[in-house]
Amino acid sequence: MSSLLVADARVLTPTGTLPGGWIAVRDGRIAAIGPASTSPPSDLPERLTVDGAWVLPGFLDVHGHGAVGYDTMDADPAGLEAIAAHQARHGVTGFLPTTWTASHPATLAALETIAELRGRALPGAGVLGAHMEGPYLNPRRCGAQDQRDIRPADPDEVAAYLATGVVRLITLAPEIEENLALVHTCREAGVTASIGHSDATFEQVRAAVAAGVRHATHTGNAMRPLHHREPGTVGGVLDHPQVRAEVIADGVHVHPALLRLVHAVKGSDGLLLVTDAIGATGRPEGTFRIGGRTVEVRDGAVRLPDGALAGSVLTLDRALRTLVAATGLGLEQLWPTVSRTPARAIGVQDRKGSLIAGADADLVVLDDALEVLATIVGGRLVHRAAAQRPPERRGPGTDPSTDPRPDPTPGSRPLTADPAGG
Ligand SMILES: [Zn+2]
Repeated sequence: MSSLLVADARVLTPTGTLPGGWIAVRDGRIAAIGPASTSPPSDLPERLTVDGAWVLPGFLDVHGHGAVGYDTMDADPAGLEAIAAHQARHGVTGFLPTTWTASHPATLAALETIAELRGRALPGAGVLGAHMEGPYLNPRRCGAQDQRDIRPADPDEVAAYLATGVVRLITLAPEIEENLALVHTCREAGVTASIGHSDATFEQVRAAVAAGVRHATHTGNAMRPLHHREPGTVGGVLDHPQVRAEVIADGVHVHPALLRLVHAVKGSDGLLLVTDAIGATGRPEGTFRIGGRTVEVRDGAVRLPDGALAGSVLTLDRALRTLVAATGLGLEQLWPTVSRTPARAIGVQDRKGSLIAGADADLVVLDDALEVLATIVGGRLVHRAAAQRPPERRGPGTDPSTDPRPDPTPGSRPLTADPAGG
């Protein structure tokens, strides 16, 4: 386990910002947080001085399919590790690998692989569970999901998925009777039900929320649009304050005006940013094969041959910058949209999403341009930008000239904290 002092930080806590503050990390958890006017503990083995940079709770991505050539549906542990490392380079400390609509065996294999990695110390972001985006969707709003495998929820099939123990979030179209029954199952199982890829009318959204839907998948995309006499799925999501709304803030999926509108309605406790990133993320633009189909990545957008959007190549740090630009609000207002709100959405807010004593030491360090300088998961430094100073080793018998840690390689190999560091 890792112990560390993060010093000279602009710390964003739920009760305000502490300029020149510090965070003491012991055994992977936040032991204490203090303002500049107080002295930090002096017995911690490593010290990371961040020169006044922002320190926030690590980002949480509850909707991401893949990156750097790998996809959740590959059911490949090494692939998930590569995705985890990519996510950490963009400030993410925890994520839900996300399945797409697929056959029962393929879906089950993906969930079992996620179960294998959950809770393990990875060379990047931690795997917090799984988001199942399908197969219980509405074919009329399938987006890039494969229509052939879309089906109504089947209780036996669902039982097999829930038995893996990793499912935290299920996207479904609740206007379909069997799927509305799944909302009740989710509520009993402690799994968040999300409305998405849905053609629900406003009244059907109301019924779904009454049944227990508390989340909306990529608001605005692949859902019945808003009409002033039939507010549709979009209007229903906006009108129910108990529903948290995902948004893909990549400048392509949603117009900046809608970003402002969703934030104005939901606030930072009701809007959460997601990537919906696919395996082409973190690779040069071009043509890729995804789930047996060809997609083209050009100008930051992923499209099927018919022009439909097919996921994104977004990273969560860029999504945050997009939201800041669209709303004109600052980090002090918007930080929950990438951490506390997703933590609440999947029920991990006791340990993650806020900088408070006792929480997991999952931190991201940002400069004033909101670029990621360093990412810390459970007190382990898993990524730092090339320009960042390495942490200082403290205590007797440490000789910096023999420090075994590798030099940072920008954009590729993640760093691991020195196991001897505490
Ligand atoms: Zn998706």
